[in-house]
Amino acid sequence: MSAPRRGKPPRHFADLSPEQRRDAVAELGEKPFRAAQLATHYYAHHTSDPAEMTDLPQATRELLAEQLFPPLLSQVRTLTADAGATVKTLWRLFDGVKVESVLMRYPGRATLCVSSQVGCGMACPFCATGQLGLTRNLSTAEIVEQVRLAARALERGDVAGGPGRLSNLVFMGMGEPLANYKTVIEAVRRFVAPAPDGFGMSARNVTVSTVGLVPAIDKLAKEGIPVTLALSLHAPDDALRSELVPINTRWTVDEALDAARRYFDATGRRVSIEYALIKDMNDHAWRADLLGTKLTARGRGWVHVNPIPLNPTPGSIWTASEREVEAEFVARLRSHGIPTTIRDTRGSDIDGACGQLAAEEVS
Ligand code: SAH
Repeated sequence: MSAPRRGKPPRHFADLSPEQRRDAVAELGEKPFRAAQLATHYYAHHTSDPAEMTDLPQATRELLAEQLFPPLLSQVRTLTADAGATVKTLWRLFDGVKVESVLMRYPGRATLCVSSQVGCGMACPFCATGQLGLTRNLSTAEIVEQVRLAARALERGDVAGGPGRLSNLVFMGMGEPLANYKTVIEAVRRFVAPAPDGFGMSARNVTVSTVGLVPAIDKLAKEGIPVTLALSLHAPDDALRSELVPINTRWTVDEALDAARRYFDATGRRVSIEYALIKDMNDHAWRADLLGTKLTARGRGWVHVNPIPLNPTPGSIWTASEREVEAEFVARLRSHGIPTTIRDTRGSDIDGACGQLAAEEVS
């Protein structure tokens, strides 16, 4: 094996804004309108293969593809669950590091869970990625390529259930998306720009999930792209939350909830509160009541709660809450008038559910 490469991933078409694409094409000695042709191939047809770009002269497409579509993600392995409706893919990046993405197919929609970083620096003790520490940020194109490849696999009928369309994206893979802000927001621009400038997805179908980096939430609120915000709360009291989500020592529960409420005010998007239910840790009825009180104190109709049964991670002593305890937790929140839906644990048997991504290669 060659020594791992360092530095930045090579420049890729998906890193570039529409204007930068025209400049890049011109710098390569080609007519700027070729940029729009490339964008159609990439964002509308989900291909970067010069052989498929038959509306460009052969020499042109080979030059442009070589310069602007360097391979960024190579597939190491895929694992499937739920009769093929859940697919976890392990990708190797240009420098040998690995990330995972998970595609989940439901009747009428398909959701891709994307990674934004290699590892994660947030150190939440119940999350497998949190145990790895942060290796590096992904580039915009490394994020966009996860999406393009999933969209292509679906379209071509490579995923059980026949040809389909990618409808939803969630930044719930590896990493803290708001700790890689500029890159992530650029990726989001590519997701929502109408084809052929981008994939033309609806902003509401893109979810950015965060531990609660308050200044970044406020910045996101001002972007004019009303993505759905998910706040990983996991405890309504600072003493426990500081243990479960260490960044809480920097921004408290109240500060994170205030930022979430401001996000709703700015965007009109109802915020999701994520709450992994951990047996005897954070699943007490009084904590459900405290959460309900804190949420309703900030108004009604702006938030809903997604309890997630804890997905087991290797070496952790923690387990998911008992069924009755979970049911009581949900009932309490609802009694405060908070819409509450248990998140499914799709892919947990292939370590592909929330908090289980560690990109380990089984040898
Ligand atoms: N860094 C972002 C995205 C992380 S993954 C964030 O923290 O929001 C998406 C969700 O999975 C987060 O709510 C995270 O707290 C949750 N999660 C992490 N580990 C988990 C586990 N073992 N079981 C259930 N959910 C988990």
